[in-house]
Amino acid sequence: MPGSSVNRRIVLKSRPDGPPTPANFAMEEGPIAEPDDGEVLTRTLWLSLDPYMRGRMSDKKSYARPVPIGGVMVGGTVARVVATRDPGFAVGDIVVGSGGWQDYAVLPGRGLRKLDPTLAPISTAVGVLGMPGMTGYVGLLDIGRPRAGETVVVSAASGAVGSVVGQIAKIKECRVVGVAGGDEKCRYAVDVLGLDACVDHRAPELGEALARACPDGVDVYFESVGGAVQRAVWPLLNDFARVPVCGLIAQYNDAVPQPGPNFSSVLSKRLTVRGFIVSDHAERIGGFLRDVSAWVRDGRVKYREDIVEGLERAPDAFIGLLQGRNFGKLVVRVAS
Ligand code: NDP
Repeated sequence: MPGSSVNRRIVLKSRPDGPPTPANFAMEEGPIAEPDDGEVLTRTLWLSLDPYMRGRMSDKKSYARPVPIGGVMVGGTVARVVATRDPGFAVGDIVVGSGGWQDYAVLPGRGLRKLDPTLAPISTAVGVLGMPGMTGYVGLLDIGRPRAGETVVVSAASGAVGSVVGQIAKIKECRVVGVAGGDEKCRYAVDVLGLDACVDHRAPELGEALARACPDGVDVYFESVGGAVQRAVWPLLNDFARVPVCGLIAQYNDAVPQPGPNFSSVLSKRLTVRGFIVSDHAERIGGFLRDVSAWVRDGRVKYREDIVEGLERAPDAFIGLLQGRNFGKLVVRVAS
């Protein structure tokens, strides 16, 4: 193989009990596999780190199968084709797929999408123009259904999904209030993303601060964190409010699930609370790529990446993602 004959891969060594630690991961080296008919060998350029990976480290019943002990950690990748036995791909093509936490991956060609590197930086295919961006687009527009003049609260507002949600809600002419961890992220949400206000969930009296920022109550709460933020937003929900439940990151490390909201408010306020998984909405990819690519091009949707250099730093960066250490879409540059 040009450049190297070794594949470094990060595997799941043990399942975390609470927050993951470096000891849950191991770096291994092995030969680079050869593609079979219909398969492509890819060199990873960018690895996406995403909160859902915490779920895959656990063997609790979920919507997706866990990574087996000793298995390569799963993950979205942007990669270069270095060998192919799928006639739909040529050596040198840039593709987005699920190569996992490793330098090289053999993947079925049918699971890959070719990218045009002249249209946008290729790392955006796992960020604003990829799975997280589409999550924000579908979750807000199809489930949140915001109307002009309504108040939208978005949690994890400076992050990969939240930043897309907040900016699309502004395009839809809503009052948009972000919730983020710390002054710097809140300033970014208002000054760069253009939100109307942002509340720091680490500051004392979160509930009062949110109530001041939402004088007309909340019509859409885009739920990505759960926990204390959810408890602060819930009393502010208006009649007929919609709550797209996208994620509950504040609870992913809990061994015992936290109690959810009291259902009497779901009844009395006629709330719509709906969980969703972006992969169930694959038919929306055309509309998503058309709209969000155009908004990125004309500057109405801005994005920020938090770039980590080197595959070996992925475990530490992922551990930090679950503590809010990232600022923007977390990606690992595996090779240039
Ligand atoms: P982000 O880029 O937003 O990074 C995660 C952020 O979560 C952190 O930066 C931090 O932001 C916040 N966070 C972490 N721990 C806590 C905590 N204890 N309390 C409050 N906030 C916390 O990640 P993504 O945009 O990729 O993901 C956001 C959410 O969307 C996650 O819940 C994820 O699981 C979910 N998701 C769901 C999908 C679906 O199909 N349903 C698909 C993709 C993502 P801060 O410092 O501001 O607190």
